Amino acid sequence: MKKSLKRFTAGWLAALLCLLFSACGVSQSSRYRYADTCMGTLVQQSLYASDQASADEISAAVMKLLRELEQTISWRIEASEIHAVNQTAGSVEGYVLSRDMTDIINVCVNLWEKSEGAFDVTIGSVARLWNIDAWAAAGGSEGFVPPDQGALRRELAVCGSGKLLLKTEVSDEEGEPLQARIFLPRGMQLDLGAVGKGLALDRILDFLAESGVDGAVISVGGSVLTYGARPDGGEWKIGVVNPRDPSENIGILSLEGQWCVSTSGDYERYVEADGIRYHHILDPATGFPADSGVRSVTILTRDGLYGDALSTACFVLGAERGMKLASDCGAEALFVTDEGEILMTEGMKRFFQADFG
Ligand code: AMP
Ligand code: MG
Repeated sequence: MKKSLKRFTAGWLAALLCLLFSACGVSQSSRYRYADTCMGTLVQQSLYASDQASADEISAAVMKLLRELEQTISWRIEASEIHAVNQTAGSVEGYVLSRDMTDIINVCVNLWEKSEGAFDVTIGSVARLWNIDAWAAAGGSEGFVPPDQGALRRELAVCGSGKLLLKTEVSDEEGEPLQARIFLPRGMQLDLGAVGKGLALDRILDFLAESGVDGAVISVGGSVLTYGARPDGGEWKIGVVNPRDPSENIGILSLEGQWCVSTSGDYERYVEADGIRYHHILDPATGFPADSGVRSVTILTRDGLYGDALSTACFVLGAERGMKLASDCGAEALFVTDEGEILMTEGMKRFFQADFG
């Protein structure tokens, strides 16, 4: 081949590669990191974007949508939809849910059935009796006493997603329910604490798809999402926390593309009194913090809501029943038992590498 022709071909090849890389946004993106708080937890963002200004914009938009979500789903916020629903407990009119909330409640009721009651968003009044969030935030146990047994029994009696009534208010052309009117029995209180972070990941995922970001790792408390690709083509590395020393990892998940990693553990919010750890994940069968032989459960799914709901459900069910539920729902699960043993679904073994260091 003539020298000039060779140079011409090489030039074209280089231009083509440049075009290809810039089309994928791979060669140009850099990492920008952000930390903030929302929904009572730390939000960390690692964004791979073409420039600082775009990353700043994306990060601010993520925080905005998290704050908006919190305004809808937190029972503590008086202007929230869930607060409004709770206010109607016992009324004959009920409450007409938004389309989003209709979907959320339907998923939650579905998982209540699948988990045989272990996952139950109607546990609100029992959770309030324990008030573990406040004790955990206070950081001490002085003055803490477990709730009175009689009071617990009374509150437990009004719980149970089976007692929720959902009547279709608006349906689509095929008759599928779009919006439902919800009726709560007197005393029942909804608590979406077990799915809040997963919902947050879903909202963020929808937004990222439109944002132009090349890749991202965003954590909202114990829930982490990975999105897109790293500029170097490598895998996303997500640590699985050691439940008895949360400053350490017990291992790493290596992931490519879009995933949601949700962890529920007895180390997240708890108060210790008389040698007993009272944590925030309650067993609806007893009204007490779940004692199923596990310290933490990590769930791997493609979307956030189911992953977050499953991590709570599997924590309550324990390793054996939880493993089955996760598999039935097409999710991967990793359990750390009370003895510190790590148990996993077969599929999880492809992603997890234990840290023996
Ligand atoms: P997570 O950290 O995702 O496991 O969620 C725990 C939060 O979910 C608690 O702080 C309660 O607000 C709520 N919760 C506790 N126990 C249950 C349960 N069995 N089913 C559904 N929600 C629960
Ligand atoms: Mg959860």
